[in-house]
Amino acid sequence: MKTASNDMHGFQEILELKRTELVGVLRRRDGIAIEKSADQMDEIQYASERDLAIQNVDRESALLRQVQAGLRRIHDGSFGTCIECEWAISPKRLAAVPWASRCIKCQEAADRYGQERGDESEDLVNAA
Ligand SMILES: [Zn+2]
Repeated sequence: MKTASNDMHGFQEILELKRTELVGVLRRRDGIAIEKSADQMDEIQYASERDLAIQNVDRESALLRQVQAGLRRIHDGSFGTCIECEWAISPKRLAAVPWASRCIKCQEAADRYGQERGDESEDLVNAA
C-alpha cells in the first residue's frame, strides 16, 4: 500500500529537518562529553553530567538512525509500511512519529521484547 506522493514530500521535509536538528545537537554534545576538571568535586559533577550527556547522545543517535532509515524508506518507496507485518502504518501514528518503522501493534510487541523504540516518549521518563 502506498501513500500519496505529496504526503510523502511533507514527510521527507519533516525527516530532513529532524535529521539536521539531531546532527546539530549531537555535534554540540561532543563538547560536553569530553569536558575535564582537576577539582575532584567538579570531577564527580562532570562525571554525572557526562553520564547524562552520554544517555542523551545514545537516545539521540538511536533517533537519528530511525530518521535516516525513514528517509531511506521514502526513497525506496516503502515509507509508511510496517517493516514487520507490511501493513500500512496509520496516518495518525506517522503524524505523531514520522520516523516510525512499525505499525503500533508491532511496535508494542517490539517494546515488550526490549528492541529499539519507535518513539521517545517513555525514554524521557526512564532517563531520569
Ligand atoms: Zn506491523
